[in-house]
Amino acid sequence: MDALRVAVVGSGPAGSYAADALLKSEEPRVEVDLLDRLPTPWGLVRLGVAPDHENIKAVSRAFEKTAARPGFRFFGNVEVGSTVGHEELLRVYDAIVYTVGAQTDRRLGIPGEDLPGSWAATEFVAWYNGHPDFQHCKFDLSHERAVVVGNGNVAIDCARMLALTAEELAPTDTTDEAIAAICGAGVKEIVMLGRRGPVQAAFTPPELKELGELAGADVIVEPRDLALDAASRRALDLDRERARRNYELLEEFAARPPAGKPRRIALRFLVSPVAILGGDRVEAVEVVRNELVEEGDRIVARPTGELEVIPAGLVLRSVGYKGVPLPGVPFDERSGTIPNERGRAAGAERTYVAGWIKRGPSGVIGTNKKDATETVELLLEDARGGRLVRAHDGPSLEDLLDAKGARYVDYAGWQAIDAAERAAGEPLGRPRVKLTAWEKLLETGAHKRLPTDRRTPFAS
Ligand code: NAP
Repeated sequence: MDALRVAVVGSGPAGSYAADALLKSEEPRVEVDLLDRLPTPWGLVRLGVAPDHENIKAVSRAFEKTAARPGFRFFGNVEVGSTVGHEELLRVYDAIVYTVGAQTDRRLGIPGEDLPGSWAATEFVAWYNGHPDFQHCKFDLSHERAVVVGNGNVAIDCARMLALTAEELAPTDTTDEAIAAICGAGVKEIVMLGRRGPVQAAFTPPELKELGELAGADVIVEPRDLALDAASRRALDLDRERARRNYELLEEFAARPPAGKPRRIALRFLVSPVAILGGDRVEAVEVVRNELVEEGDRIVARPTGELEVIPAGLVLRSVGYKGVPLPGVPFDERSGTIPNERGRAAGAERTYVAGWIKRGPSGVIGTNKKDATETVELLLEDARGGRLVRAHDGPSLEDLLDAKGARYVDYAGWQAIDAAERAAGEPLGRPRVKLTAWEKLLETGAHKRLPTDRRTPFAS
C-alpha cells in the first residue's frame, strides 16, 4: 500500500499527538503535513501555557521528536479557510484531521462587557505570551484593583501573572512589554470571582497551591465563602481528588494571616458579575451573591438578589474558550465543536477531528494524547477497510501554495526562528526572547528551500 497522505490542521498538542500517532503507523505508512495558521508550531504550548510554567512548555521537546520522524513536514502561515480551502485539501490529501482548538472566548452576556478595560482572558494570555495577533493590545495596569471572572486554570494563570515580581518574571519568555507593564503596574489587588462554591471550582490543586507560594502576593480567602451547603458537603465527601484537595488548600489560605506582601489575590466564591460599570472605561464590577441549588445531578448557582459593587479598572473575563467554524466543514454552534463520532467528523468525507474542536475546551495537555490516538486509530481503520477514497489527482500542497503566491514557513524555517529566539534569550538567562511581529517571523522563517527540505522520503 502506498503511504497515506494526511493533513493535520493545527499544530497544538492535539495536532502534534495526532501527527505522532499517524507517523508511528506501519500499515499503512503515513506521511503527515502539519499545517498552522501561525508561522510557529505547538499552539497553546507556545502561546497559551503561562511563561512561568517552563516545565509544562517542555512538552514541545516530545513534539520536536515527532517532527524528526520520516514523513513529517510543517507548513506554517497556512490558514485553512483563507490560504487554502477544505475542498482543496481534500484533493491533495487522503484524509484531513482538524485539531484547530477553540479559538475564541465565551461571552458573559452582561452590560458593559465591551467597555475599554474589559478584556477576554484569552487576549491577555496571548499578549503576554507574544502571540503576533495580540501585540497591539494596550493593557492599562495602572489601576489598583483587577477583577478576573471565572474559576478555572486560565483565571488562575491570569491572576498569578498579574502578581508575579520582576525576579519571578525575569527568567521566563514573557514578552518584554508584558514584563515592563506587570512590574510597573499599580495593581495591588486581584479579585477572582467564582460563580459557584469552592467545591465546584474548575481549577486544579497544583495551580491553586502555587498561588499560595508567590513571592509578591498574599492570597486571601474569606472563611464565610468556605461554608458548605448540604449538596456541596456530599459532593466533597464523595471526592477524593480535585475538590477535596482544593478545599483543603482554601481552608489553609483562609487560616493564614496576610504576610504584608505588596499584592493580594482575593479568591471570592458564590458571586456572579451582573454588569461591568463605567463611563468611557471600566470603573467597577457589579456582582450578585449566589446560592447553590441542585438541578438534576448538577449543583448550579442561583442569584439571591444581594448586590455588591467592586471598584476595578481592569476586568479579565475567563469563562472558557469556544470553537469557531471552518468554512466548508460542519459545525455545531451550541457546543462549538465539529460534530463527530469518536473523532470521525459527521457529514464530511475523509475528515477527522481531535482535541478541543472534537470534545470542547477541557482537560490538560496530556488529555489530547488519548483523544488524538482514538481519532487516529479510527482513521487508520478506515484506511485499512478501504473507506478512504484516496485523492491522487490533486496538486501537491507546495504547488498549490506557490500558485497562490502564499508565503509559508517550513520546519527548517521554524528551526531558524527557534534558534534566533533562543540565541536572544541565552545571554539574559531566559529560555528565549520571542519574535512577536508577523513580518519578523516570516522573514526569519523564510529561507532558500533546498531539495532536502522536501518531504523526508521513507527508506524503501
Ligand atoms: P474552565 O476550566 O472550563 O473554567 C471556566 C470557568 O468559568 C468555570 O469556573 C466556570 O464556572 C466559569 N464560568 C463559566 N461561565 C461563567 C459565567 N457566565 N459567569 C461566571 N463564571 C462562569 O476553562 P479555562 O479556565 O478556560 O480552562 C480551559 C481548559 O484548559 C481547562 O481544562 C483547564 O484545566 C485547562 N488549563 C490547564 C492549565 C494547567 O494545567 N496549568 C492552565 C490553563 C488551562 P462553572 O463551573 O460554574 O461553569
